[in-house]
Amino acid sequence: MFRLEVLPARYGDCIWLEYGSNPVRRMLIDGGAPGVYKRALKPRLQQLTDAEREFELLVVTHVDYDHIRGIIELAQDDTLPFKARDIWFNGYRHLPEPPGPKVLAGKHGELLTDIILKNGHSWNSHGFNGDAVVIPESGALPRIEFDDGLTITLMGPTIPMLADLRKDWEKSCRDINITPQELEEARAEGRFALLGDEEPPPEIKRPDIEQLLREDYSEDHSSANGSSIAFLIQYGDYRVLLAGDSHPSTLVESIKRLGEQKLKLDLCKLPHHGSRGSVSSELIQHLDCENYIFSSNGDQFQHPHPEAVARVIEYGGDKPKLWFNYSSDESLLWDDEKLRKAYAFETHYPKHEQAGLLFVKGTDE
Ligand SMILES: [Zn+2]
Repeated sequence: MFRLEVLPARYGDCIWLEYGSNPVRRMLIDGGAPGVYKRALKPRLQQLTDAEREFELLVVTHVDYDHIRGIIELAQDDTLPFKARDIWFNGYRHLPEPPGPKVLAGKHGELLTDIILKNGHSWNSHGFNGDAVVIPESGALPRIEFDDGLTITLMGPTIPMLADLRKDWEKSCRDINITPQELEEARAEGRFALLGDEEPPPEIKRPDIEQLLREDYSEDHSSANGSSIAFLIQYGDYRVLLAGDSHPSTLVESIKRLGEQKLKLDLCKLPHHGSRGSVSSELIQHLDCENYIFSSNGDQFQHPHPEAVARVIEYGGDKPKLWFNYSSDESLLWDDEKLRKAYAFETHYPKHEQAGLLFVKGTDE
């Protein structure tokens, strides 16, 4: 049995994985944006018994708020016991050191680091001996085995990507005038602003696929996104790529290192919520996949961007299936019979606002 749930994580990611039987094992990948813990993740966790709330792995792909926020809330929720056998998260200590003095560190990452240390969690242990979850400069990609035959092949981040994050992590802390040493004090004074500003979405036009395919492409250059832990999950012959917010060039390089012309997948959670700078034509051309997942409700950044969706429709195989975890202005743009017929693609939406998406393989329970 293999079940993947793409929870409604607002403009972020929150992915719930179950596999095996007797016992069923679980992994959680990211915790979504503000509000997601309360509305989606906590209710989901409350369906489990205390014993079932011991997960094989918790992955915080990177420090951005739309991924880390729900995990911070989960870690601070005393009313709900939750354990993970290991946490994969690249904190400041895992970022390669540039020359010069050690300075400050990123605010949300610092907060999560504080929680991990305080609670004595196992951190980057399974497969990485406490070091960074990162792919080496050369040689085989790290392949980590879990109980019940599930394997994870790490596809990102690279060492330079982590080094890039270090500078921005420091800047993020300087911006709110904190140092790791005064973390407690800063929290008490509410200087950890945990609520992001929200902007109203702009007007959205009907898609012109030919025009969208002609748009210039420029790759995302956010250091936080580039630092994303991205990985391929294999369970039996079922293969899923969870791309975090990775840069597509990192993923393409990793696919080449795996020696696969095209990465054969059953499911692909596209990088960075389907942003125009993260879903390149080149990446889609390197995948052999029918099912593409877009995780976003369109808030903040209006993801998925129409250019990204057009690239999946054009290069995503004979008849790509587009799976959206929200019925938003941005996703409903593609719910168009004429367009679907002309360009041969399918669209799938959740049954209701809080339903998310569910993929199930095998029912040997
Ligand atoms: Zn994100």
